Amino acid sequence: MVVGELPQETELAVLGGGPGGYTAALRAAKQDVDVTLIEADAVGGTCLNSGCIPSKALIHAADFLQDVEEARTFGVKAEAEHDYGKTQSWKDDVVASMGDGVKTLCDAHDVEVVEGRGSFVGEDEIRVEGVGSIEFDSAILATGSRPMELEAFEFDGDYVIDSETALDLEELPDSIVVVGAGYIGMELSTSFAKMGVDVRVVEAIDSVLPGYDDSLTRYVERRARELDVDLSLGEAAVDWVPWKDGVEVVTDDGEQEHEYGADCVLVAVGRIPRTNCGLEEAGVRTDSRGFVVTDERTETTNPDVYAVGDCASEPMLAHHASYEGRIAADVVAGREVAVDSQAVPAAVYTDPEIATVGLTPDEAREQGFDAVVGESRFGANGRAVTRNEVAGFVRVVADEDTGFVLGGQIVGPEASELVSELALAIEMGATVEDVDATIHVHPTLSEAVMEAAADCEGKAVHSIDR
Ligand code: FAD
Ligand code: NAD
Repeated sequence: MVVGELPQETELAVLGGGPGGYTAALRAAKQDVDVTLIEADAVGGTCLNSGCIPSKALIHAADFLQDVEEARTFGVKAEAEHDYGKTQSWKDDVVASMGDGVKTLCDAHDVEVVEGRGSFVGEDEIRVEGVGSIEFDSAILATGSRPMELEAFEFDGDYVIDSETALDLEELPDSIVVVGAGYIGMELSTSFAKMGVDVRVVEAIDSVLPGYDDSLTRYVERRARELDVDLSLGEAAVDWVPWKDGVEVVTDDGEQEHEYGADCVLVAVGRIPRTNCGLEEAGVRTDSRGFVVTDERTETTNPDVYAVGDCASEPMLAHHASYEGRIAADVVAGREVAVDSQAVPAAVYTDPEIATVGLTPDEAREQGFDAVVGESRFGANGRAVTRNEVAGFVRVVADEDTGFVLGGQIVGPEASELVSELALAIEMGATVEDVDATIHVHPTLSEAVMEAAADCEGKAVHSIDR
């Protein structure tokens, strides 16, 4: 790896080194394609440096702190002392070690990594600021996304902050207003509350985590309230004014305004594609929402340029970006592959976790399936009970005629891990009978998945017939 030096030409230029870009680069290199990866900031992208990884590290520390408190239920009494500075430096070490891992992989596979901001200056040429120009046979655009800013809430890094700043705070604030009860809002607000911060979440619509159904989100909402998170639902944040040493956030519920004071306000109201890299020069078009237009092979309106990840499509999730990165790399390497998005799982790392894949019962019916639904509650699962984590359930959606698994929704412990079994079932065309016939270790949370599958056929052992 020669950082900062640019070859004059390359078979494949990858613009952006997040999970979409670096996965594409490595996958192509493993198929003997000569690859140059151009990254403006740090390899690993948002996910590794300011998204998934640092947030999950902080969530882990916060959960641990809360677990110590709640361990009294089973006779463990301890006083946890929290050194947030140490938590931050541990989180930074986690990020640095994973970043080093990506660099090592690039090095080992002869992926040329070039540091600098790249922009297309033609249909087959990229200029890297301060470095030079490179001609490519193919390019993969993987420039990711950036936080959306509300007009009245310009990020200033002190009083009005985005998720990146929130994850890097050297000291915990005493109080915070979080605008948006989406993925970031709910993951970070519960964690801040567990670490002793006085948290208020302001959300424009009437429930938390829009896009997920109420039967799942009510567990998260109830737990957030239990953790003393104040939820102001149905209130849009409209303005803020300086207040004491902090901010006063003004919200509007449609009838009246409310004011909430805090040390700072975290605005997490969504992300938008980052595409300010000379796309017009390359003949690459974007749609009305700013996403790069691609087909099922990830090809853009320039047949030599592909686009993957947050800059190209939703859901804006790291595993979706890396999946598309693998497809784009395989296409560049000459393989006949296409994106198949029927089983993209998603997980929210709230307390409890929510994870979904495939179709909900309503979606299955809308698509014309004779949908059958099976459920299994964690309260009847031995492992969940022994972990003292009984809230939640697994739901499996199947096609009654064929038994094919169509989808799954989970709320409860390790939902993010459990959902992969259902993703695999959908991907393989497995039936609920296949899942039921698979012997699962006892006692495990995964037995709840098996039970929910069996319930689709009325055969679940640990439930009373409805
Ligand atoms: P990115 O990861 O954004 O990478 C794009 C890269 O391109 C960046 O490194 C950027 O510096 C570089 N770049 C941009 N423009 C240029 C240019 N012109 N020249 C050179 N380089 C450029 N997703 C999950 O699946 N699970 C989670 O738990 C999760 N948690 C998250 C938590 C937070 C707080 C946030 C903000 C996001 C989270 N996400 C999570 C979303 C996830 O981070 C993104 O979906 C993922 O990073 C998208 O990958 P990407 O490769 O498309 O883009
Ligand atoms: P989001 O789209 O998940 O949620 C944004 C929320 O802000 C919505 O509920 C919306 O109604 C609300 N909102 C918008 N304007 C508002 C206003 N003026 N006042 C009050 N509420 C308002 O967005 P996010 O939380 O910023 O996350 C961005 C993206 O990052 C996610 O969509 C997801 O793709 C990704 N992400 C994923 C994970 C994960 O996979 N676990 C974690 C974090 C982020």
